[in-house]
Amino acid sequence: MFFKQMMIFILLIAFFTKNIEAAIQMDEKKRNQERLSLYRKVEAITQIPWYVLAAVDQYERNVRRVRKDIPKEVGLIGIYIPPEKWAGPSNPHYDDQSPVSIQIFGGMGKDGNGDGKADRTNDEDVLYTFADYLSSYGIDLENIKIALWDYYQRDKTVGIIIGHIKIYKHFGHLNLFEHAFPVPLKANYSYRSTWGDARGWGGRRIHEGTDIFASYGVPVRATCYGIVEMKGWNRYGGWRIGIRDINNTYHYFAHLNGFSKDLHVGQIVKPGQLIGSVGSSGYGPPGTAGKFPPHLHYGMYKDNGRTEWSFDPYPHLRLWERQERQKSMK
Ligand SMILES: [Zn+2]
Repeated sequence: MFFKQMMIFILLIAFFTKNIEAAIQMDEKKRNQERLSLYRKVEAITQIPWYVLAAVDQYERNVRRVRKDIPKEVGLIGIYIPPEKWAGPSNPHYDDQSPVSIQIFGGMGKDGNGDGKADRTNDEDVLYTFADYLSSYGIDLENIKIALWDYYQRDKTVGIIIGHIKIYKHFGHLNLFEHAFPVPLKANYSYRSTWGDARGWGGRRIHEGTDIFASYGVPVRATCYGIVEMKGWNRYGGWRIGIRDINNTYHYFAHLNGFSKDLHVGQIVKPGQLIGSVGSSGYGPPGTAGKFPPHLHYGMYKDNGRTEWSFDPYPHLRLWERQERQKSMK
C-alpha cells in the first residue's frame, strides 16, 4: 500500500516538473518571437543583421542576470546602457529624454520608435540606439568587431558576442535551449556528485566538475547548441574541448581519448553531436594517459563580463539525463 502511494506521488511530481519546464520554455519561445520581430524591425532601419542584435542582446541579458550592480531587465531587450552613457557624461540631467540635448552632451541615447523621446527604458529606443552605434562603424563583421571592442574594451566579451553571432546566424532562430547528456544513455557509465572534492595531483585544488566514469572510446557528445571555443592539451585536463552556448555557460570536456574527425575551433555544434571519446589523458606532458581510470570530466562555467567561475554541473546532468530518457520513451 505504502509503495503504491509513493509511486503515485513520484508520478505526480514528475508530471508537474515536466509541465513547469514545458511552460517556461513556451513562455521563452513567445518572448523570443517578439524579440526577433524587434531585431528585424531595427535591422530594416540600420542594416545591422538581426543575429548581431540578438547576440549583443543575449550577451547583455546573460551578464545582467548574474550581476548585482546592474538593475534587472524589465522589457524584452536585455541591453543595459548606463544613464551617463545614455544622456552624456556632462549632461546635468541623467534622466534626459530629449534626443537633441542628449546629442549636445555627447550621449548615445536615440529615439527608435519615433515618439520624439529617447527613453532609456524603452525596448525599441535601446535596441535602435545600440544598432545605430554599431552602424556608425560599418555594417560588416570586421567593423562590428571594432565597434564592440571600443564599447566593451574586453577581448573575452567581444569573443563571446562574435560566437553568439555565428551560432544565431547558423541556426537562423533564437530557440536554442535544448540539451543532451554528454554520453549516450545506452552506454555503461556512472557518476555521482563530487563537487568540491579534494584533488591530489598538481597541488591543492578542488574538483570543479563531475566525473562520468565509462570505458575507453565511449562517445562524448556536445550537451548544447554552441561554438567550439577551445580544443587541445592541458597538463591537468589532457585532451580537452570547450564549448560555449548562448545561455552563459562554457562547457568543458576533459581527459578525452581523442576528438571526433574534423572537429575544429570555431565549429558550431548542436546537442548530441559527437565531439570525441572517453579516455584517461592528462596529468603530464602531451600524450600522457592511464594515470587514473578512464572518465569524462565535465565542467561548467559562467561569465559576468569581468570574470569567469565554475558551478556544479551535477544537477544539470541529472536533468538532461532525465529529459533525454523521457524523450526516448515518447
Ligand atoms: Zn574530474
